[in-house]
Amino acid sequence: MIWCCSSCRYVFERENEPMYCPDCGKEYIRYASKSEREEYFRYQREFYPEKLQKIAAVG
Ligand SMILES: [Zn+2]
Repeated sequence: MIWCCSSCRYVFERENEPMYCPDCGKEYIRYASKSEREEYFRYQREFYPEKLQKIAAVG
């Protein structure tokens, strides 16, 4: 799952819903929107190409 922090806009990947934002520590976690997920995958492709296959498999 791809999650987004409503407070700081940090987008990250977790299997289960996290309690707190790993970046700012606030509790404003929601599902990442389509555009936010695309942004996340763009970032992953650019900086972590070896992870991409794993992420695609997870969804
Ligand atoms: Zn945050």
